[in-house]
Amino acid sequence: MTIASEHTEAYQAGITYLNKVRSVLPDPQMVDVTRNLRDRVSICNWIGRQIETVNRSLQVHLMACHECFNPADRRSIQILAVPFATSVQLDGFCNINAEPTTILVDVGRVAPVDWLALVAHEYAHAHLGYPGHDRQYAQVLSHLCLGLGFAQPSLTPVDRSIYCWPPYSPTIDPLAWWRGEGNRLTTP
Ligand SMILES: [Zn+2]
Repeated sequence: MTIASEHTEAYQAGITYLNKVRSVLPDPQMVDVTRNLRDRVSICNWIGRQIETVNRSLQVHLMACHECFNPADRRSIQILAVPFATSVQLDGFCNINAEPTTILVDVGRVAPVDWLALVAHEYAHAHLGYPGHDRQYAQVLSHLCLGLGFAQPSLTPVDRSIYCWPPYSPTIDPLAWWRGEGNRLTTP
């Protein structure tokens, strides 16, 4: 066990990564780790060491979503893991105005077994290019769910379950993952 420090290459790599994800968010304040005095050093060190492995896992999920569509219909999409600020009430976010369209996932808020569900939800937004949860959105998500083995969403417009479909349970302490506590990473 090494003591987390601000003077490591990993820490600098973590800071560089956080600046990169901030640049693809509509509001950089959606990520505020660097203002977290208690956890900043351990989180940045962990990101510097592990973020490539995490993003590789997310990339595998993104490819699984792409596989549900004909190559000609697939949009150019990138996916990045990000620790959202506590004030952000989202586990995932799709920036349709970024180039390429960018899916951001707070992998600390969702257990790894549920990452694909979250990626599929955001992928449907990325595929359509708009953030709403209308009937067309439900149809695209339903198609994805069928391909990925999730239960399909209700196509009833008033059914609000579409906002967090496919369903999953949130984690209790999102930042614990980002501090590197108790997570087991498997390289896909
Ligand atoms: Zn949504």
